Amino acid sequence: MLLGGSLLPASASAEPGGGLSGAGDGETLLASRNIAMPFPGVEAAGLHDTFLDGRPGRRHEAIDIAAARGTKVFAVDDGTLAKLFTSIPGGLTVYQFDPQRQLAYYYAHLDRYAAGLREGMPLHRCDLLGYVGTSGNAPPQAPHLHFAVFRLASPPQWWQGTPVNPYAALKSATAAASSGSSAAKTRACR
Ligand SMILES: [Zn+2]
Repeated sequence: MLLGGSLLPASASAEPGGGLSGAGDGETLLASRNIAMPFPGVEAAGLHDTFLDGRPGRRHEAIDIAAARGTKVFAVDDGTLAKLFTSIPGGLTVYQFDPQRQLAYYYAHLDRYAAGLREGMPLHRCDLLGYVGTSGNAPPQAPHLHFAVFRLASPPQWWQGTPVNPYAALKSATAAASSGSSAAKTRACR
């Protein structure tokens, strides 16, 4: 599929490498990562599955999480910082690869980056990436994090991948973070 105008610069139109099965495979991989919420204080009721929503000329293929401007945005997983990219729709964005370079996490509309971020640096879960804002095409009165995940091709390229719906993974993180269990610490950054 083509994602013209998408926040992602491009999307793989075919299954890369022949042995991958696209989004289904990506969702299984994502579930196995047990990602953290990118910021605390999100109630389950505050999460909405907007993955398939229409946007002008495309599908959204991401989850928007509303938060006050300046809310800290944390890495949802370990991995590496693949790219710091400024785009017209996404504004200030971060692309993170997971440790196996199978998934990319994409954080958009940031108000500003955390100090000291540089491409190629290792990231750990809950490292500070930046702050919620409205850069790019986000409405100025509605700051939010646009969070997307995509299944990387092989070799991995930050601009290429198959969109994966992160809604279930975020929902799971929210539930775990508010459960008070020992797992909560690893699913809630603060
Ligand atoms: Zn969005």
